[in-house]
Formats: sequence, C-alpha cells, structure tokens
Amino acid sequence: MTERNPVTGKRQLVGFSWSQERQIGQEADAEIIQEYGLYEDPEVQAYVNRVGQPVLSESELRDPAAAVQYRDTPFTFRVLDSPVVNAFALPGGYIYVTRGLLTHLDNESQLAVVLGHEVGHVAARHSARQAAKAQLGQLGLMAGAILGSQVLQSPELANQLLNLSGQAVELLMLKYSRDAEREADRLGVGWAAEKGYDAAQSAAFFQTLKRLGERDGLTLPAWQSTHPDPGEREQTVTAIAAERTPPGAILRVGEEDLLQQIEGMVVGEDPREGYVQGNAFYHPELRFQFPIPSGWNVQNEKAAVMMTSPNRDAMMSFRLTPERSARAAAEKFASTQGLRALDSKATTVNGQNAMAIVGQANTQQGTVGLLNYFIEHNGRVYSFMGMTGAQRLSSHSDQFQRAMTGFRRLTDPSKINASPARLAVVTADRTAPFASFVPTSDIYGITAEELAILNQVQLNETIRAGKKIKLPQIGGDINTERGVGRSRVGSSRLEGPRRGSLAEP
Ligand SMILES: [Zn+2]
Repeated sequence: MTERNPVTGKRQLVGFSWSQERQIGQEADAEIIQEYGLYEDPEVQAYVNRVGQPVLSESELRDPAAAVQYRDTPFTFRVLDSPVVNAFALPGGYIYVTRGLLTHLDNESQLAVVLGHEVGHVAARHSARQAAKAQLGQLGLMAGAILGSQVLQSPELANQLLNLSGQAVELLMLKYSRDAEREADRLGVGWAAEKGYDAAQSAAFFQTLKRLGERDGLTLPAWQSTHPDPGEREQTVTAIAAERTPPGAILRVGEEDLLQQIEGMVVGEDPREGYVQGNAFYHPELRFQFPIPSGWNVQNEKAAVMMTSPNRDAMMSFRLTPERSARAAAEKFASTQGLRALDSKATTVNGQNAMAIVGQANTQQGTVGLLNYFIEHNGRVYSFMGMTGAQRLSSHSDQFQRAMTGFRRLTDPSKINASPARLAVVTADRTAPFASFVPTSDIYGITAEELAILNQVQLNETIRAGKKIKLPQIGGDINTERGVGRSRVGSSRLEGPRRGSLAEP
C-alpha cells in the first residue's frame, strides 16, 4: 500500500498503515516494559516527557497541515531501567531512553536531540518503509519480528528459547538504513534547534557512542551500530544546528537542568536485581548464585540473564518459568513445537530438585544443540539453558554443565546486602586530569575509562576547577580526601546518608 509520508509529503510504499503502526507500537510497548522495566522515578519519567513533547511539537506530525491521523497520535516517552546506553523508537509513537543513556548525557540539549532523532524515525515512518522493502507486509509478521521469531522459525520456540523480545526489537531497529539514520539525525537536530536548544552539543554525545561501541563491540547498542560515522555526524550536526537555529536565538544548553534530574540515578547494574562479581552471578532478592564461564559476556535483563561465549558461538539464558515443578517445566519445554528432546533425566543441583534435558531445534541458522536445566528454588522453577550449533554441543556441554550445576542458594550477607551505585554530581575543586577524580574503591567493576566516557572526557584530559563531574558512589562514601568537592547541583532527590555526606563531607 502507499500512504503520504508526513515528513516528505510524498506518497510512498509502506508495509503497514499508520493505524497498524500505532497498534504494533502499543503491543510491543507492553513487551518492552516487561523486558526492561521502567525506571522507577516518576520525576525523571516526567522530565523526559517534558523535553520530548516540545521537540515533537516542532515536527511535521504536529504541523496544522498534517493529516489528522498524525496530529492526533499521542507520543509516549519512557525511561527504561537498563544500564545499557540505548535509545529506540517503536512504530506509532513510543520513544525509549535507558537510564544508562541519561547518565551519559551532559546536558538537556543532547537529550533533546536524542529524543528528536527517535521521533524522527517514527515521523518519517522508517519501520513501515523498511517493512515494505522487506516484504513483511503483514501485521502478524511484524509483531513476530518484534517478539523474537526473526531469529528462530517458530515464534513459540523463539519465546521459549530466547525470550529475547527486547533484543529482537533492537534487531529490528538495526535494519534502518544509514540513510534513514541520517534523516533521523537531520530531523532531530533541526527540531531541537528550532526549540532553542544548542543542538550542536549532540556532537559530543555521538563521540561518546563511538567510544562505547569501540569498548564493548559485543554488546553494541543498536543506537550506535547503524548510525553514521561519528566524525561525519559531528560535522553535519553542527551544520544543521547552525542552519536551523532561529536568528538571534539565545541558545539553551541546559546543563544544570539535566544534571539535577540524573543526580542520584542508578549507575551500572542495579545489584538488587542481580549482578556479576568476579566469575559469578548473584541475585540478592531471589537468593541464588551461579558461576559464569570466564570471558563470557553477561547481560542481565529484566526477564532473563543472557550470557554469550567470547567468540559468540554459544549462549546461555537463565530465566524464571511459570511452572510449579521442574518436571512440569521440563515436560512443557520438551513438547515445544520444533524441538526434539534427545535425553531427559531427573537430578538434583546442590540439593534442589532439577530436570536436565538435551535436545535439538531447527532454526534459520541451522540445527541448534541445547542443554536445559530446570531447577526448583524457593518455590520457583528456573530454566538454565545452553545453546550452540548442534555439532558444537559436545565441546560446550562441560562449560554449560559447570555453570548450571553450580547454581546454589545465596547466603553470604555481604552479597545479599549489596546496594546500587548512584550518580553523584560533584564540582571539581582543583584543576587536574580527570583520572585523578576517579574513586579508588571498586564500584561494581566500573572502570576509570568507563567513567571518562560517562563524563564525555578523556582519562588524561584536564578538568578545570569548578567543572561538574559525574561519579558513581555507593551509600555515601564519596572520597573527599582525593579532592572531589561538594555537590553544587540543586537538591538531590535521594534521601538518606548520601545526601548528608555530600553536604557535610
Ligand atoms: Zn536511529
């Protein structure tokens, strides 16, 4: 079908109508919330909406001449509770930023551009255009892609095996073309500039994304991977910002506004929802732990812990099942369409009832070999599954087995009582290299380089006295001896010892 594009005004081929896009967005939104969870701070949620809506109001969707269906579509801006630096949009007006992204920003102008970029994808209908190209012309197929069936043939199997809805959405987003990304940049920067923001500020954040990409490679957030080269971006962004800024406008950077909002925000993993320390994963609330093979990448998502081998030829997922016994969960799994159970046995894992299943499944990438342990613990049943190419199962099964049979009750109080690191905004009390402000204590393995990236500076870059810097801290132990001064940024929303210690070092 064809519809008129609200941004270009031209009729073009789309995979779905606008009302279908809205429906897809609404359905997938619930999935996203379930997968990542919302960041539980109504003030921050309201703030992001407060920055997003005016940027949206500059868009062609809100032009009085735009079709009613566009003008009438409400937009939802959400902050997800994920440490991954990411922003994405779902068709039909759903925009997400993670808390990880917010803590990596320096000012409100950068946020305005990020939100504008995502609004740009929705407004220019990139998903629908991409879907038309990919001939995914059916709503069901699109929804399936969002829910993870893109990876595996049967949606049921995909849900059973991977529970990857969030990542699948990222996969979906990965398919935007580079031209689409350029268009989203142009739209986002333009709208932010028209709203009076210093939109050229976003160039520094694009640099941050590049550094993050170089650092992790593996957990490359979608937002940076398909986007234009940061060098190119920096130039175009600066040019567009200059061109679209109203003459004589006093540009708003909004440093204080943003820093006030993100001060106190959780940095990195929230240990209360599970964390990695050394070569083990701990879950204080659910009271369990298990070992992680060395070198594996771990992604702790709301619905699952996803682990990937160093060369990405094997993965493990750990998640809760809805079943009441290991046997029932194993039976349900074994009857999954597309799965062949080769072996199944009752066993125990450190005194807890368990079932182990070896199986195979056909996927678009060939036959996959599986080992899945279902373990009963505190009235819940967990699925701990390893997955690799069918021929590789024998070489990986020892590793899988060691992790799965290493699952046990967590009793160590120091692991149970872990509290999250939170962002403190402090004022440098001297002129010195950034590295000298980095806390000496280990804060959940957050490295000095990561903190430099978070501050959009180089590790050896000179920080001038008076400049605001963002540092993580746990429970108010800010290291004042090393010369990090008091916070000068507004009042913190955090209660308790942290605030006191900042005010009276
Ligand atoms: Zn994009």
